[in-house]
Amino acid sequence: MLKGERVVGGLPCSEVLADLSRLLDGELPEADASLLSVHVSGCDVCERFGRRFAGVLRDLREGLREPESLSAGVAERLRARMASR
Ligand SMILES: [Zn+2]
Repeated sequence: MLKGERVVGGLPCSEVLADLSRLLDGELPEADASLLSVHVSGCDVCERFGRRFAGVLRDLREGLREPESLSAGVAERLRARMASR
């Protein structure tokens, strides 16, 4: 169990977080995606994390297109985001 984990919409936070990248990629089956969105809309922890995670994911993808800037820029932003939690 994660610290502060809760069960909303029949899903614990850890399962939501595990599927979050697939959800953001649109790879999650619709039934699962709607369960996840029920959880996220009722769970402020996942909502906050999801927003942050979506931003990090976008940064990572942008970084992947420019490998040179990945290590410095993204790693630093990741650390800053982790530290601010
Ligand atoms: Zn949650």
